Amino acid sequence: MVILQQGDYVWLDLQTGRQFDVPVGAVVKLCDSRQIQVLDDEGQEHWVSPQNASSNLKPMHPTSLQGVQDMIRLGDLNEAGILRNLLIRYIDRVIYTYTGSILVAVNPYQVLPIYTAEQIRLYTNRKIGELPPHIFAIADNCYFNMQRSNKDQCCIISGESGAGKTESTKLILQFLAAISGQHSWIEQQVLEATPILEAFGNAKTIRNDNSSRFGKYIDIHFNKRGAIEGAKIEQYLLEKSRVCRQASDERNYHIFYCMLKGMPAEQKAKLGLGQASDFCYLTMGQCTECDGRNDLSDYSSIQSAMKVLMFSDTENWEISKLLAAILHMGNLCFQARTYENLDACVVVRSPDLSTAASLLEVEPKDVMLCLSTRTLITRGESVCTPLSMAQGLDVRDAFVKGIYGRLFVWIVDKINAAIYRPPSCHSGALRRSIGLLDIFGFEDFTVNSFEQLCINFANESLQQFFVRHVFKLEQEEYNLEDISWKHIEFSDNQEALDMIAIKPLNIISLIDEESKFPKGTDATMLYKLNSQHKQNSFYIPPKNSYETQFGIQHFAGVVSYETKGFLEKNRDSLHTDIIQLVHSSKNKFIKQIFQADVAMGAETRKRSPTLSSQFKRSLDLLMRTLSVCQPFFVRCIKPNEHKRPMLFNRELCVRQLRYSGMMETIRIRRAGYPIRYSFAEFVERYRVLMPGVKPAHMQEDLWGDFADRSSWTDLANTETGKSGRLRSSPSLRRLLVLQDHH
Ligand code: ATP
Ligand code: MG
Repeated sequence: MVILQQGDYVWLDLQTGRQFDVPVGAVVKLCDSRQIQVLDDEGQEHWVSPQNASSNLKPMHPTSLQGVQDMIRLGDLNEAGILRNLLIRYIDRVIYTYTGSILVAVNPYQVLPIYTAEQIRLYTNRKIGELPPHIFAIADNCYFNMQRSNKDQCCIISGESGAGKTESTKLILQFLAAISGQHSWIEQQVLEATPILEAFGNAKTIRNDNSSRFGKYIDIHFNKRGAIEGAKIEQYLLEKSRVCRQASDERNYHIFYCMLKGMPAEQKAKLGLGQASDFCYLTMGQCTECDGRNDLSDYSSIQSAMKVLMFSDTENWEISKLLAAILHMGNLCFQARTYENLDACVVVRSPDLSTAASLLEVEPKDVMLCLSTRTLITRGESVCTPLSMAQGLDVRDAFVKGIYGRLFVWIVDKINAAIYRPPSCHSGALRRSIGLLDIFGFEDFTVNSFEQLCINFANESLQQFFVRHVFKLEQEEYNLEDISWKHIEFSDNQEALDMIAIKPLNIISLIDEESKFPKGTDATMLYKLNSQHKQNSFYIPPKNSYETQFGIQHFAGVVSYETKGFLEKNRDSLHTDIIQLVHSSKNKFIKQIFQADVAMGAETRKRSPTLSSQFKRSLDLLMRTLSVCQPFFVRCIKPNEHKRPMLFNRELCVRQLRYSGMMETIRIRRAGYPIRYSFAEFVERYRVLMPGVKPAHMQEDLWGDFADRSSWTDLANTETGKSGRLRSSPSLRRLLVLQDHH
């Protein structure tokens, strides 16, 4: 029975049954024997009958009224409590909040005056919690921990598209460069890598005007005096399909539009370039401009950044040539034909064809042949078969994606060549690093394909890392308190991870095996996945034999994967004819970026590593790197889908809180000892219930007052409404921890 009065704060649970709906905060406006009127946090009025009050209304813990800087201190440590805490701070334009050592950052979608040089100074060399939560506090802790403990640090920044990962990464970099304080050339080079990576790897999407279409890990190296002495960038899974196709209202990579706006006219003339609207590859989303971006001025920033990172004028020109060739290739005109009753096609001669061929330094007729026929080698003899128009277009797109993907890798290598200094024998042991991981969050779209499987596999691995870390921190705290923790169990996602990529015959390895198998198809692959895993509770087989999807129970929910196109995406290799074409080119640059493929010759399709094996290898390496670092976690939250300030969509945020794995921290806390007071706080809170107990600050011997612990236990149980066990540690400085059996 809840006894309420006007002005009380409550949790209103409307029990809508919606997946991401949680109780909302509300204040009681009116309360009599017939009805209770409440006004919720969003300004909506609700009427609750007293009979339903106990199921619809729960009293709010005082810590939820004004909000707290560290959510671990919330009395209502649950989704509703966390959500409201973020909301009331967000309304006050306070975007950062801790949950223990995790920083939660809600995207403000407006420029806040909190990133000034003054703020950097303020946050330098401070303990976490000394000042209000801030991304600079995390950066500062990374830096000083590294110095103090002589241990590498890492910062894992996660969140969905548009949540603010890349901005957070840049803010940490800005802070580190400022406190490393050398204003050195290398420092500038590290900072200038960002505009280049963003030009070639970011694009406008419906979710984010500057969406990173690749994952990255930037490892910043410091010398023993704490100055930046270099860095190394690792990139993951660039979305190559964007070069050929963009969804409505989305753009291709920024660099294309910047080049067309910013390149001097005489250079453009040499490349046969006009404006963005001339090119099919730039107009598929019917969107060539992006509000808030200036392609013209961005072009000059990219050019100067490339100079800082030692791209020579020749290299720069070669890159432009390839970008222009890609655009002309996209304008090629195909015509369908029939050849001996087979679907065939021809590539029509056009100015775009001649320009593309001349930029790639190959013969136009070789391009025409490559995109309309395929050479098959059977029993030592080569046979030329025609390609249908659809196949011809696919080969063209695959070639273009191949060029762009390799160009991107080359650019990252080039940046690394400028900023990476391998540790010398005498400095190696003294060098320390801070790694920043800005990687795609968990994805669940209407249709999920191979890319989502890779991304969610990465998130599953990071979640495992996160949960283990949080659990380890808990254990450390209990050890300090001298409290037994052996009974605390937590569920991690090891089984799901085992099924995806660890145990023999795991999903990734089966997909890989099928990709290598000459007769393998998406259907045979699905059959093998089903036979191997259908008994596994983390695997959801297709409902019938026509269905082409399978599902995985991930830590953040079930995701259904459409298998059509899986193998081709995983093979990620080009036909021998295309490799031959590159081989015949006089353009040294394109030959260089295709070096490995050309070396494999006719074997390229068989021998080139699959996408999943490459990704797994780099992910394994990343996890190994992270495991020897002291980690920090930043969870970015996108408050609305409209890129607008001061708009907080509750269900969208709950979904992200669940997917971020942050609720896992809370689950671990709840499995253990979730309520923590210092002795003084505890006395302050409950002394009114114990006649004769003085306020904590007036007591000389607090411990004396705890002599009769059983009665304190009863009080603590009153607080939680649960049967608890009060634990006190021998030291008076320590917290009092209460076990929650629920
Ligand atoms: P994606 O996964 O698509 O790359 P992301 O998480 O990296 O997304 P960002 O590009 O960092 O998202 O942020 C999206 C936009 O949100 C930014 O371009 C900026 O307008 C705004 N934004 C993010 N963080 C902040 C911030 N701290 N202050 C002001 N604006 C911000
Ligand atoms: Mg980003």
